[in-house]
Amino acid sequence: MEGLLDTLAKLVFWLALGAGVVFTALHGGAIIWTFRDMRARSRDVLAWIVATLLVALIPLFGIIVYLMLRPRETLAEAYERSLEQEALLQAIEEPEICPGCGARVKSDYILCPVCHTRLKQACPACKRPLQLHWAVCPYCGVSVTPQVVEPVE
Ligand SMILES: [Zn+2]
Ligand SMILES: [Zn+2]
Repeated sequence: MEGLLDTLAKLVFWLALGAGVVFTALHGGAIIWTFRDMRARSRDVLAWIVATLLVALIPLFGIIVYLMLRPRETLAEAYERSLEQEALLQAIEEPEICPGCGARVKSDYILCPVCHTRLKQACPACKRPLQLHWAVCPYCGVSVTPQVVEPVE
């Protein structure tokens, strides 16, 4: 009887030790992961410390709370998105080039002021400049006849 209890006690001891080691490793990993993850999402040093402490001091639940509250985007993602937006804006604002003579023309020019190449056609209803291949005015919805693009000699 004595021997069995002894074995049981040893078994419980080793199980507890193993669980403790695994838990400590996981907890440490979670703390390091949180610190790295927060650093990728924020430039605020205080935010890194608060997030890491949250996970370090409240095992298990700290990381759940962190996952709920962390910034949605990483800094790299936010940067990429701002680049995309900038590219989009540039595409809108970029001056166009006349296909006839290469002169810079504005996007609302109907004719090239240098060589008279037809660049756009005015909408018959709202008079806004339309691309020559468009079949409908995107501003007012009026149907237009698409024009064949041909430079004037
Ligand atoms: Zn031109
Ligand atoms: Zn129109």
